[in-house]
Parts: sequence; structure tokens; C-alpha cells
Amino acid sequence: MKILFYDTKSYDKESFDAALSRFPEIEIEYIKYDLDPRTASLAEGFDAVCAFVSSNVGEQTLEILHSKGVSLVLMRCAGFNNVDSAKATELGIRIMRVPNYSPEAVAEHAMALALACNRRLYKAYNKVRENDFSLAGLMGFNFHGKTAGIIGTGKIGAAMCRICNGFGMKVLAYDMYQNPDLKDFVTYVSLDEVLSGSNLISLHCPLTDDTYHLINIETIKKMMDGVILVNTSRGALVKTDDLIEGIRMHKFAGVGLDVYEEETKNVFEDRSDEILEHSTTARLLSFPNVMITSHQGFFTREAMEAIAETTLENALTYAAGKESKNDVK
Ligand code: NAD
Repeated sequence: MKILFYDTKSYDKESFDAALSRFPEIEIEYIKYDLDPRTASLAEGFDAVCAFVSSNVGEQTLEILHSKGVSLVLMRCAGFNNVDSAKATELGIRIMRVPNYSPEAVAEHAMALALACNRRLYKAYNKVRENDFSLAGLMGFNFHGKTAGIIGTGKIGAAMCRICNGFGMKVLAYDMYQNPDLKDFVTYVSLDEVLSGSNLISLHCPLTDDTYHLINIETIKKMMDGVILVNTSRGALVKTDDLIEGIRMHKFAGVGLDVYEEETKNVFEDRSDEILEHSTTARLLSFPNVMITSHQGFFTREAMEAIAETTLENALTYAAGKESKNDVK
């Protein structure tokens, strides 16, 4: 089986090359371009393509892949909001993903963002490097004894519930389905109760039509003053202009974002020489209580190994014509 691997970074090649020794039937060609309608035709002669969170796996891309004889898209990630799965089904292209590589990797990053915002670690780090040992602007609050509100308690949300519980926090959660593994220490309540009753709100639901702009000015107004908001899920769960309005209203003690609406053209690119014009991200970064990371929640050694292993197993499952729980329906 021949796979064209889009949007290759050095760490992708390292983890997939290490895993390939266990999959002698698979050959990978790595390219730097991301998958989109301009680059899809490069897949001619390949059985499958491997794509990632900022790839464009929309209607036009899928039509081109189909015309070039590609019938498998291997998403090396959990989320698939960038895939037109209805179009893929219509064209007979199978989409497979890695739903469960390391929920703890993302949950630990969510807590890292929450702590960094709460204790202004980014500011403290820079102050001390400048020989400024004063504490002005660094005061946070104890998480112990406070309430965490987790929206979406699937794999990553459940890991975040366990971490918050370990910090001595009361844990409230909102999800359409109650996770039975959490029943001893999580209280399921309505979305409004999570919003109004939590000192730390962390988003772990997928991006769907129902969750698009779940955090908007109306939901922000329901939050308690001095809340910390963390988003490691998908950028469009939060309406950025409304978030900026909420920050200007002094609603938040801190906002930690691993994902944000404008991220697609930034993700994993070095744009440090550019002037980011008309950028709401730049506006967000102008606030002292906002910390943004570049979609790195998944980025641990364990997660990268698991992603490579499962992606290659997916390719073999496809080659064997077997069904899989990793299929995107
Ligand atoms: P999951 O499918 O295990 O859990 C998602 C949970 O959200 C489910 O329990 C589901 O019932 C719930 N949900 C769905 N719609 C909801 C709604 N409207 N309101 C409340 N809850 C709702 O998924 P997961 O593995 O925990 O991943 C969650 C998300 O994290 C992914 O969709 C992806 O977008 C994101 N993610 C980010 C990174 C990163 O690097 N930052 C890495 C992996 C995944």
C-alpha cells in the first residue's frame, strides 16, 4: 500500500518512520504541502492519503482524490470537522481517524493552560528574565476547593475531570450522555449551571452544528466574574469577537486557548517575520490575561507514537476490507 503523507513536519516523519518497521507492507511518501484542492492531484498513483487538522478534506478535494483513484483518507487526528464525510460516502472514499491516542495528553495541556493563566506563568517567566522579581500582576487563586466545569465528558473531558478532581476541585459537567466512569466524583448539571457555577470552564466537546459558537456573549454573561476559560477542543466553539467583548468586560481571570477560530493559516507555521494584519488573534494576544498555544494539546511522545501506530493499522484494516470503529461515518 502506498500512502501520500501531506503537511509533513520533522516529528511526523520521525514517528511514522519508527512505526513503519512494523508495517513492511506500507510505503509512505512524505510531502510538505497540505492537502487541499490545489494539491490533491499529487495523490495520483497512491492508494491513500494521510491528512491532519488543517487539511482541506472538503467536497472539491475529495472529488479530485476520487478522480485520481484514491479511496482512503487516513486522518492522523481525532477531530474530523474538516472532512466532508457525506461527500466521501457518496464517492466511496473511506475516511479513517485516530479517535483515541492519548486523551491525557490533551487534558494535561488544558490544565497546564489553566494553571499558566491563573498564576500568569508566561508573565512571571519574562519578568524574572528581566531581573524584575516583583509580584505585581501575578496574583492567582487556589484551584483547591473551587469548582471546575467540564463541557463534554468523552475521553479527553473525562481525563480533565480526573485531573481537576485530583486538584481537590468540585467537578460539574455538561454532556448529553453521562459517562458512568465519572459518577463517583462528577455532578452532571445543565449547561447554564456549568456556566454560572464554575471557576474554571474547560471545553471538550467536538465542533458540530450544535456546538458552533457555544461560547458567545450570551453564554459568557452567564459565567461568574473571574472565571478561567480554557479551549483545547476546536476554535469555532468560541465566538472570538464575543470573547474579546467578554475580556473587555473584565469577565475572565484568564483565557487559555490551544485552538482559536483563525488558527488554520497559522497552525504549525513559523510566521514570526510577518505582520498579522486584521487579526483577531493579535487582538486577543494584546490582553495580559490571555495565553494562546498553537494546537499542541496532542503533542507528546506517547501520543505521536500512538497516532502513527493506529494510522498504519487503519491502512491495513482498509487493505483487508474489514470494518473498524475508527471509520468516520
Ligand atoms: P469524544 O468523542 O470522546 O468526546 C466528546 C464528548 O462531547 C462526548 O461525550 C459527546 O457526547 C460530547 N458532546 C457532543 N456534543 C455535545 C454538546 N453539544 N454539548 C456537550 N457535550 C457534547 O472526543 P474526545 O476524544 O474527548 O475529543 C474531544 C475534542 O477534542 C475533539 O472533538 C477534538 O476537537 C479535540 N481535540 C483536540 C486536540 C488538541 O490537540 N488540542 C487533540 C485531540 C482532540
